[in-house]
Amino acid sequence: MSLIVQKFGGSSVRDTQRLLNVAEIVSEAYDNDNDIVVVVSAQGKTTDELIAKAGEITSKPSKREMDALMSTGEQISAALLVMALNERGYPAVSLTGWQAGFQTDRNHTRARIKRIDKERIENELDKKRIVVVTGFQGINRYDDITTLGRGGSDTSAVALAAALNADRCLIYTDVDGVYTADPRLVKGAVKLDEITYDEMLELATLGAQVLHNRSVELAKKYNVELEVLSSLERLPGTIVKEVAKVEKLMITGVAKDDKVARIALLGLPDKPGVAFKVFSLLASNRINVDIILQSIGRDDTKDITFTVSDSEKQAALDVLQSQAAIIGIEEIVADCNISKVSIVGAGMESNPGVAARMFEALGESNINIHMISTSEIKISVLIDKELGSKAVAAIHAAFEV
Ligand code: ADP
Ligand code: ASP
Ligand code: MG
Repeated sequence: MSLIVQKFGGSSVRDTQRLLNVAEIVSEAYDNDNDIVVVVSAQGKTTDELIAKAGEITSKPSKREMDALMSTGEQISAALLVMALNERGYPAVSLTGWQAGFQTDRNHTRARIKRIDKERIENELDKKRIVVVTGFQGINRYDDITTLGRGGSDTSAVALAAALNADRCLIYTDVDGVYTADPRLVKGAVKLDEITYDEMLELATLGAQVLHNRSVELAKKYNVELEVLSSLERLPGTIVKEVAKVEKLMITGVAKDDKVARIALLGLPDKPGVAFKVFSLLASNRINVDIILQSIGRDDTKDITFTVSDSEKQAALDVLQSQAAIIGIEEIVADCNISKVSIVGAGMESNPGVAARMFEALGESNINIHMISTSEIKISVLIDKELGSKAVAAIHAAFEV
């Protein structure tokens, strides 16, 4: 007998017909003599709708109340799925993040899982029940509901697979695996049979929403092999693991992130310690900074430009504004009309000319690059948002992936 964790995303449970389809997949796995723990997301666009409802009331909702609100979506899916399983004659029980033992830190709306108290789940499994857990949520040490950040149900599933030492962790979604680019954006995108944790982590962090990046981090840390597969077609998916079969591809994938904001600090004093003041201020406010560019000093001043996620733009502007006079910032300019387009691939380290080929593809498509950042296995460029999809297609074609 094996223990299998199956996670179903929002589109896989979006309506009654899809829920019934999920109930069929789950019951088949149960019939094959497995213990089954299911993790579900909110139905379809429920989480977006809940956020929009809050927005009708306030532009600055309390994060604690946002978590209380957003966590309701997953409860609907879990209860309905259990009803569907019961209708088919299967014993099942739904558990909220709290009931399932998900203890998180205090960071509302993007909490991290600290531990999972597994007794309740194990008791239910001992009773031969299918356990359906709400994804994306837990509680903090004050017993307040927390959520794990958008797309966080993947992380709930991987954390459970690690805690329960599951034999398999299957991430069911609306595409049949991980592709070399978003298959909805690039017609010629190719499905990968396997991908390494490191490459998948980069792709997920750079905007390929097919897996939550924290889920890949956890999978790597606890060596949980994942399979990303379709809930609609019975096809083998993509395996995410430590060492993938060597592909002949120089790059593994192209990703695009539209949720980026660029902030430029103009007229800073050109002297030591200024960058430290700016970035320590942002760090102490838990604002993650991505690409950083500093201009050459001129007339004793310099400019620093950097990117943050668009959801953190306002918070970044507020703290910088409040300290502008002390740091010596003359002017702050923010811009959300940009996209970050990246290529990822372990093969790039040993292949000179990868960056040149990417920039050539952009140049030939008349796409101007605003910022560039590189690491061993990725190159990212910042470009105008309206050119994002064109850029992904051009780069993908240039590498013939
Ligand atoms: P779920 O609701 O199942 O969690 P998501 O919408 O979060 O699903 O993620 C699946 C989507 O990720 C796909 O529909 C696809 O458009 C998108 N996606 C982006 N990049 C990739 C990629 N490289 N491979 C596969 N899917 C991708
Ligand atoms: N429902 C949450 C979201 O839409 C979590 C998830 O789907 O993984 O972000
Ligand atoms: Mg998702």
